[in-house]
Amino acid sequence: MPNVTMTIGGQPAPAETTFGVTDPATGEVFAEAPEGTPAQLDAAMEAASKAYPDWNLDEDARRQALRDMSAVLMGALGDLAPLLTAEQGKPMNDANLEVFASAMWCSYFAELERPREVVQDDGEALVEVVRRPLGVVAAITPGNFPLTLAFGKIAPALRAGNTLVLKPSPFTPLTTLRAVELLQSALPPGVLNVVSGGDGLGAAMTSHPVPRKVSFTGSIETGKKVALSAAPDLKRLTLELGGNDPAIVLDDVDPASVADGIFGGAFANNGQVCSAIKRVYVPEAIYEDVVAALADRASRVKVGPGADPASKLGPVNNAPQYERVKELVADALAGGARAAAGGAPMDGPGYFFSPTVLADVTDGVRIVDEEQFGPALPVIAYRDLDDALARANATQFGLSGSVWGADEDRAAEVAGRLECGTAWVNVHMALAPHQPFGGFKWSGVGVENGPWGLAGFTEIQAVHRSRVGNGLSAATSMVLP
Ligand code: NAD
Repeated sequence: MPNVTMTIGGQPAPAETTFGVTDPATGEVFAEAPEGTPAQLDAAMEAASKAYPDWNLDEDARRQALRDMSAVLMGALGDLAPLLTAEQGKPMNDANLEVFASAMWCSYFAELERPREVVQDDGEALVEVVRRPLGVVAAITPGNFPLTLAFGKIAPALRAGNTLVLKPSPFTPLTTLRAVELLQSALPPGVLNVVSGGDGLGAAMTSHPVPRKVSFTGSIETGKKVALSAAPDLKRLTLELGGNDPAIVLDDVDPASVADGIFGGAFANNGQVCSAIKRVYVPEAIYEDVVAALADRASRVKVGPGADPASKLGPVNNAPQYERVKELVADALAGGARAAAGGAPMDGPGYFFSPTVLADVTDGVRIVDEEQFGPALPVIAYRDLDDALARANATQFGLSGSVWGADEDRAAEVAGRLECGTAWVNVHMALAPHQPFGGFKWSGVGVENGPWGLAGFTEIQAVHRSRVGNGLSAATSMVLP
């Protein structure tokens, strides 16, 4: 059983009570995680506050710390990846990639150059626009990519000069706790603190008086609660929320040539990706061919425990999510949908669900209208492209989407009409630390990644140096007698 602790002020924080963490491949509790108390949350916030003034002073030291963090993560691959597989369910290869991506995010933000922004430089004034850190950041993550999503916040927040209190999902706390323990060797005490616990601890973080910013990734439902809770003291907010990404296939594609890309975009991480393809719109003329190609891919993929090197897809991460996938698929089948592949849970222990391709289904059915967040993909026929686009956009979701076509320019023109934060052409889920990521509508507020994500962990300050010599600006000189 892994022995992990919370880290507060650079020190292990002893657990007064614990909660069980389930291995989704067995459905059995395999480890205990510390349940953070309100006093421990206060201590973490205090430690982050105390560490802030010094941490904020030296940007070069922060860049070096991020380089060191990247090296620590890469050195800990063999420690972190198996733990991630055990608590999240994803295959080892994916777990390795997730640790690698976390290290990459640290390196990217270590090296990102911030050009000087001078907006006036003349005889009257030198005016610079400077980005200042906010102070303490409260960061809350979900269970699908516990590490990468945490480092999408940690790396820019620390680079900008903030200190941080982080809370991972109660379904996947262990890898994050372990990573933060290991990273203390690269950081001054109190700069990066982690507490673990349930949803109540998250709510206590967002309403806590200390943080100046909340950076939250999770469901829309929770995101709205976070926004309400952060409002009374006007905390800054970044919300990375749920998606129901459409993929629109155009009439000039060869179905076989897009099947791999669409299948990968829908089923990576077992469909548990905010920006996975969650519904596919296909022209009537090639509908059956696309359904058959996707069903063929789905029926050939090897599903099994993440620890088995042969597994390409693991289990659904947790019981409530597993129940939700079962419910949405059953609802679609009861309404007349056809399971071209899968359609049911797999035999045996654990939260395994057959990769499912649903045909003869359309808008208005729950699995099309809602976010399934699991290995089940509805494929919808369309006759008229404008109508398909209207249906793709007729939702409060607006995270991302993709268009697939042989004529790239035409596909790009259609992609530009999608109402979402990322519009891909002939690919889906191509994400990178230099590419901004965020949602339109209910899928989010603000963006992560790149200079835009870094800016989200800062306030703008205008620094105006007068060169007129008499201490008067145009506005103040007007009130002189
Ligand atoms: P969730 O909203 O249930 O939980 C996410 C985190 O919020 C957990 O740590 C949880 O303990 C905490 N939490 C719960 N209630 C809270 C409250 N009232 N106040 C503060 N924190 C609270 O989400 P989930 O089910 O773990 O994750 C799946 C969802 O996350 C999906 O909708 C998915 O699309 C979305 N997601 C979005 C992105 C993105 O970048 N846009 C990335 C990954 C996942």
